[in-house]
Amino acid sequence: MRPGIAELDRVVGLLKDEVGETAYRSWLQSLRLERIDGGEAIVAVPTRFLRNWVATHYADRLLALWRGENPAVVRLSLIVDPQVVASAREEVPVAEPGGPAEPGGPPDIAEDKGQLSAPLDPRFTFENFIVGKPNELAHAAARRVAEACVGPDRVVPFNPLFLYGGVGLGKTHLMHAIAWHMRLRAPARKVIYLSAEKFMYQFIRALRFKSTMDFKDAFRSVDLLMIDDVQFISGKESTQEEFFHTFNALVDQNRQIVISADKSPSDLEGLEERMRSRLGWGLVADIHPTTYELRLGILQSKAEQKGLRLPQKVMEFLAHKIVSNVRELEGALNRITAQSQLIGRDITLESAQELLHDLLRANERRVTIDEIQRKVAEHFNIKMAEMTSTRRARVVARPRQVAMYLAKQLTPRSLPEIGRKFGGRDHTTVMHAVKKIEELIATDRSLAEDVELLRRMVQS
Ligand code: ADP
Ligand code: MG
Repeated sequence: MRPGIAELDRVVGLLKDEVGETAYRSWLQSLRLERIDGGEAIVAVPTRFLRNWVATHYADRLLALWRGENPAVVRLSLIVDPQVVASAREEVPVAEPGGPAEPGGPPDIAEDKGQLSAPLDPRFTFENFIVGKPNELAHAAARRVAEACVGPDRVVPFNPLFLYGGVGLGKTHLMHAIAWHMRLRAPARKVIYLSAEKFMYQFIRALRFKSTMDFKDAFRSVDLLMIDDVQFISGKESTQEEFFHTFNALVDQNRQIVISADKSPSDLEGLEERMRSRLGWGLVADIHPTTYELRLGILQSKAEQKGLRLPQKVMEFLAHKIVSNVRELEGALNRITAQSQLIGRDITLESAQELLHDLLRANERRVTIDEIQRKVAEHFNIKMAEMTSTRRARVVARPRQVAMYLAKQLTPRSLPEIGRKFGGRDHTTVMHAVKKIEELIATDRSLAEDVELLRRMVQS
């Protein structure tokens, strides 16, 4: 057996421990190693839907775990190969029209419409959602919608509610929370929750089986329609067309619609103009990248849920180091839980560091201050030399501050060390820059997006 195959098996095994049996069987079981080419691991999946799903939900984690197994692997690519399904140990649920959505998974949300709605994650409730600055607007809006959906008279506070933000920041969690709220308090009302990919798939299937009338009826008779990750229907004209009509029909009947995407309606590419403007009609709420405080809050609550007693120091350490997204943070906590249960000993800062070395390394190993400076200079179109120059004009000072902020966030360097890298500046200058950018991220959307984009570029 080629070594890469065993690596993939181990990596998927580790991820399975983190995400659980159901998610493993739905999404990860059919992954097959195509080849390892230079530093790139190329993994095949049987369908496009699966590829997109794995790419958005698991790719970062897979790569991080892989690097732990084999540091030579620096990139992960997912390709579609329909042959894969034939060799998979079990049928991939999404590849089978009309089949059970997720064998052994949580119950289907609209049982009567079995295959239309995707299963809800029982952990994704409002009770389990930690509110902080970066997500307070999105959370408040989701709550309002949830309350209105179970109210006696059909008040639709904003239509649609459009939630957007980067990967792993809680969009899906909030949507499921709305659905749970409604399901528990107004079980007679109908909810459909679907990814945009699945919406498209259902639609294409309806076309193929000439059941478009049923399709239309099913979608147009719901009280609440939620479509997750609509960026996936960019460029898919006929799907957009159908979606647009469904959307309008529901709005006309005063039914609630909730949409999520990784970008705001105006930044979504490949979207028809009328669709774009429709999406921006209601309330557009963005979820910002997590702050240290929010990460700490989430860790505390999740540890509590698991009945895990972690020293404050360990939590603070994790909240500092794992900045990418909440999913990774949870992954770290799951590993720590598994470990402490296994060895029956308390977790210390040292053991946490050791246990999570690959994750921590993946979060920081590749990122150097030089790299950050180069990417930031490139992005803002200024000379690299301005990073160390004494010029104070806003056009160069702001990018420099962004670079300092990212250096603090993404590298383990201390403030004085960072200051030295920026032309021998004082550590208080760096501290000021970090504070300034933190403030601006909360108030200046376009800067927040620049920073998020740069963070991703530097980390990828
Ligand atoms: P997205 O859909 O934005 O990519 P998810 O909703 O899937 O992100 O969230 C990723 C993981 O992080 C989920 O397990 C979710 O429960 C958790 N999570 C995200 N934000 C929060 C939060 N504010 N409080 C608690 N858990 C959160
Ligand atoms: Mg999501």
